Amino acid sequence: MNSSSAAPPLLEARHLSKAYGTGNDRFQALNDVSLSIARGESVAIVGKSGSGKSTLMHLLALLDTPDSGELLIDGVDARSLSPREVNRLRNEMFGFVFQQFFLTPGSSVLENVVLPLKIAGLGATERRRRGLEVLTRLDLAEKARNRAVDLSGGQKQRVVIARALVNEPDVIFADEPTGNLDTTTGAAVEDELFALNRERGITLVIVTHDEQLAARCDRQLIIRDGRFATTEAVAA
Ligand code: ADP
Ligand code: MG
Repeated sequence: MNSSSAAPPLLEARHLSKAYGTGNDRFQALNDVSLSIARGESVAIVGKSGSGKSTLMHLLALLDTPDSGELLIDGVDARSLSPREVNRLRNEMFGFVFQQFFLTPGSSVLENVVLPLKIAGLGATERRRRGLEVLTRLDLAEKARNRAVDLSGGQKQRVVIARALVNEPDVIFADEPTGNLDTTTGAAVEDELFALNRERGITLVIVTHDEQLAARCDRQLIIRDGRFATTEAVAA
């Protein structure tokens, strides 16, 4: 065990590898990747399409398991957790801004936002209170009763951020958070993420191929063909 009393990194990956497919179709998407992310950092994972960014993000966020290597969350080895504990940890500690985690179009904005609280077992009154609080913070309180489908792209993305935030997560994982947005709307969504980082100390792990977004992060990790091109921290 760690003999020092220093806090462990929030996320620590050691020698993660992941392949998809079998036989001739086998593809090594991630190859011996190690990294360490401290609480409160903002880290960009940058690279071309197909380089392994989303694969790495899914492993870090406990949405998938590596073929080999280990992942420690706050010093706890993910392999020591039961599936139930993994689900709980993910729901309590992580918020997701992923394009594939769609909003439920016919449900209201508020219902979409409080989904993680429902999963956590909170009662309706508390869910509503916290949902409205986070929607107010994102300037969306007046849209709470609207159906998600009736919002603009930028508003939808802010609802996704609201949902990622409602559980007061330690980390927000964002995979191309501004990929589908025009420049102005994308910048507003970015500003919101970095405000959360600054003001609430929420750790950001952002997959992007947008160099300007990457440059706003404390550190850029460049991934190429499933490996880090650089492992050194770039000073903020
Ligand atoms: P990125 O996010 O950088 O675009 P991914 O991590 O999504 O890259 O994918 C890395 C590589 O792994 C790509 O070549 C992709 O085609 C492949 N890949 C990703 N997911 C799967 C999957 N479920 N089955 C097979 N191949 C996959
Ligand atoms: Mg991807």
